[in-house]
Amino acid sequence: MEYFSKDISRLITELSRLPGVGQKSAQRLAFHIINAPLEKAEALSDAILNARRNVRYCSCCCTITDSDLCPICKSPERNHRVIMVLENPRDMGAYERTGKYDGVYHVLHGAISPMLGIGPDDIRLKELMVRLQGDVDEVIIATNSSLEGETTATYLVKMIKPTGIKISRIASGVPVGGDIENIDEITLLRALEGRVVL
Ligand code: ZN
Repeated sequence: MEYFSKDISRLITELSRLPGVGQKSAQRLAFHIINAPLEKAEALSDAILNARRNVRYCSCCCTITDSDLCPICKSPERNHRVIMVLENPRDMGAYERTGKYDGVYHVLHGAISPMLGIGPDDIRLKELMVRLQGDVDEVIIATNSSLEGETTATYLVKMIKPTGIKISRIASGVPVGGDIENIDEITLLRALEGRVVL
């Protein structure tokens, strides 16, 4: 039996579709929003719509941004000859929080997974190969150490080797099966510093 009115139920349903939000949290959030001043609710819905409408992929590194180039690709302070390859923009956030990496990134938006039917053409690999035609000294492969991440790393090595560009893989510290976004900064930093040349 529906015990909330239609509008409240709909809000709860929509909120519960968000990752990590269960039915209980969705209810709590819904009642928080309903009890907030109208302007607060409007600010929230505006922020959601604006982000969704304006977000696009950086034309260089494919991360999510709101202009043609993301702030990192635009920055003259970064070393554009070193490219770290990541599975998703959240991993980029993790490396940026270390504050110690001054190269640039390439976001694949996924990893190769024959089991899930995700092949090389389903991730942003072509875009990476195009970038490698420019002046690049090193590609750091920082995909997760899951089966998919390792499969992707192997594929990347195969593709990049013929270009003669130095390839390295982040090392020790990243636990097997560990997601980069959940690893603390010190461990990430050690993994980056201890990367192995392939
Ligand atoms: Zn970018």
